[in-house]
Amino acid sequence: MLVTNGQTPALKVAVFSAQPYDKSFLNQINRDHFQSVNVEFFYHISPLSKETVPLAAGCNAVCVFVNDCVDESILGLLSEQGTRGVFLRCAGFNNVDLKAAEKLGMFVACVPAYSPEAVAEFAVALMLTLKTHRAYIRVREGNFNLNSLLGFNMHGKTVGIVGVGRIGLAVARILKGFGCHLLAYDPYRVEEFQALGSYTELDDLLQQSDIVTLHCPLIDSTKHLINLDSLKFLKRGAMLINTSRGGIIDTNAVIDALKSGQIGALGLDVYVKEAGLFFIDHSFDIIQDDVFQRLITFPNVLVTGHQAFLTEEALTEIAETTFQNFQNFVDGTECTNALVGGGATTAK
Ligand code: NAD
Repeated sequence: MLVTNGQTPALKVAVFSAQPYDKSFLNQINRDHFQSVNVEFFYHISPLSKETVPLAAGCNAVCVFVNDCVDESILGLLSEQGTRGVFLRCAGFNNVDLKAAEKLGMFVACVPAYSPEAVAEFAVALMLTLKTHRAYIRVREGNFNLNSLLGFNMHGKTVGIVGVGRIGLAVARILKGFGCHLLAYDPYRVEEFQALGSYTELDDLLQQSDIVTLHCPLIDSTKHLINLDSLKFLKRGAMLINTSRGGIIDTNAVIDALKSGQIGALGLDVYVKEAGLFFIDHSFDIIQDDVFQRLITFPNVLVTGHQAFLTEEALTEIAETTFQNFQNFVDGTECTNALVGGGATTAK
């Protein structure tokens, strides 16, 4: 579908993995910003891949999300088609080969800082829901028996936060209000956290925490940070929450730890093989991913489909920042959200 703001477009953007809410927020911002940057959108529900890359032909830019493939070969094909800008509607950029983009002289920008509270509140919601989700199902079935529903207080519990950036800090502020003791592991320390809790090494954090929540990016040093070896340090029966990226945990090791009781409860908003599974209605399909299917059979596991970002406030900020990035690209002005080519690249 083609959507313009009524003026001659300076920028033609192929928007991949475009859900109805993406269209609605981007169209609204396009109408609001028509005097500053003229954008023509071509929306595609399908993710960016080798098969769908021709859909971007004739567009100066693509706008992508967490599961679009923006590897070296896709970037090469985009570049051959004359597409020079890659705009992520998200903070994480593990799906983009930045080195390849740089070599090709492309411009890549993301939305680094939209509403960290959206994701932080969702992470805390997973913690609390793991105390209540079975009661919800029982009551719907007319079963008001409380046996086996014994919970625990958040107050006084130790929560280990892995990655204390924007989201990790927002989680820390919320949990401080619950009366939790806070530990953090992050190679880069910030003063703001020192007032809320203490930094420690990962092994200590895993040994001491009743709840561990992951808020680091997926990079080489964090891939499978939670694995067979690190799980041995985890306090027996601890709760693990991952709203960051699926690849930070070794899913098979986590399944073993659930079977042995080493992990007492698991809340996931992300899954390593979520591409092709999440954001799509598969309710009439036979899901072929046996690891995922095993994961959701556990009564103490809660999985949501990468939706922590999905709030009114976050989507507004994502659309606004994406437009700011478009403007910098078109004008050739410095882009503070650029990952590659943020200074002098222009769309012309
Ligand atoms: P951020 O860049 O502000 O913070 C990340 C923190 O992780 C930084 O403090 C960094 O020093 C730390 N870090 C880096 N390497 C580390 C390591 N090896 N061990 C521990 N910590 C390490 O990012 P943010 O805005 O807080 O977002 C964090 C992540 O959340 C993103 O990378 C993204 O993957 C994920 N996210 C998920 C959703 C969702 O909808 N589920 C939405 C937004 C972001």
